[in-house]
Amino acid sequence: MQRSDFIWLDGGFVPWEEARVHVLTHTLHYGLGVFEGVRCYEGAGGSAIFRLHEHTERLFGSAHILGLEVPFTPEQINAACIETVARNRLRSCYIRPLIFLGDGEMGLAAVQNPVRATVIAWPWGSYLGDQGVRHGIRVKTSSFQRFPVNVLMSKAKAVGHYVNSILAAVESRQSGYDEALMLDVDGFVAECSGENIFIVKRGKVKTSPLASVLPGITRDTVITLLEERGIGCREERFSRDEVYLADEAFLTGTAAEITPIRELDDRRIGDGKPGPVTTELQAAYARITRGEDQKYHHWLAPIA
Ligand code: PMP
Repeated sequence: MQRSDFIWLDGGFVPWEEARVHVLTHTLHYGLGVFEGVRCYEGAGGSAIFRLHEHTERLFGSAHILGLEVPFTPEQINAACIETVARNRLRSCYIRPLIFLGDGEMGLAAVQNPVRATVIAWPWGSYLGDQGVRHGIRVKTSSFQRFPVNVLMSKAKAVGHYVNSILAAVESRQSGYDEALMLDVDGFVAECSGENIFIVKRGKVKTSPLASVLPGITRDTVITLLEERGIGCREERFSRDEVYLADEAFLTGTAAEITPIRELDDRRIGDGKPGPVTTELQAAYARITRGEDQKYHHWLAPIA
């Protein structure tokens, strides 16, 4: 990875090399922690963080679900994100706020240990590759199911939840695919290891309901853009063979942005090329994130 110079840790900045934790850090043992993935884009008017307030709101929501008391206000975390980008003189980058439980007592119930916070920023290109964004990716249905709602809490973007995602992601890559599609326990399409999924059939768009998926901020952005265009989007369950028969399918995520799916389980989707709805959304997303669409300036937190 490409390093930056400073990391925000527990309220102040430390050099990248000095941002260390003790091996007894509770989160390291049991996975009780919450995080975000945020992006900062450079546009003609300077750099700005996309939907920072919504990411911070989800971060605090995740902490609330897990019973973690964040020792900072949302405003302080927002300021830390902006300051981390500015201090490192980054123009476009990925930002990772993380709330974790520090060391003190051991054991599952040691939730009185200090809650700690960090914000890290570094340059990070296209998550599923530039070729993937342009031409579409090959996805494989995972042998690992997405955890059901009363096993782990899907509204929380929690550290430990990602074991489920990693199993699926690694399996798909080792089998020669770009990403894993995870089904819910009833066999319906849930989401990918780090993205939400949409399908388009005869001009109608569907995405999986929020019940068993992470409430993606890119998902919300895309739904807003679809409504704005009079296309709309139904949030309802669909099966993997509906994806096989779709005219278009695409993934959404802060890291992956809007990535077309070219194939699922070796079946070509549509004509195997990014379709018109997908490419229109990609173009709109690029304009908005770079500050070229006045209507969505309220989604941008400028780096001073
Ligand atoms: N689902 C999962 C499991 C994810 O990890 C992510 C990435 N945060 C998403 C969906 C997409 O969420 P967002 O658009 O907020 O990045």
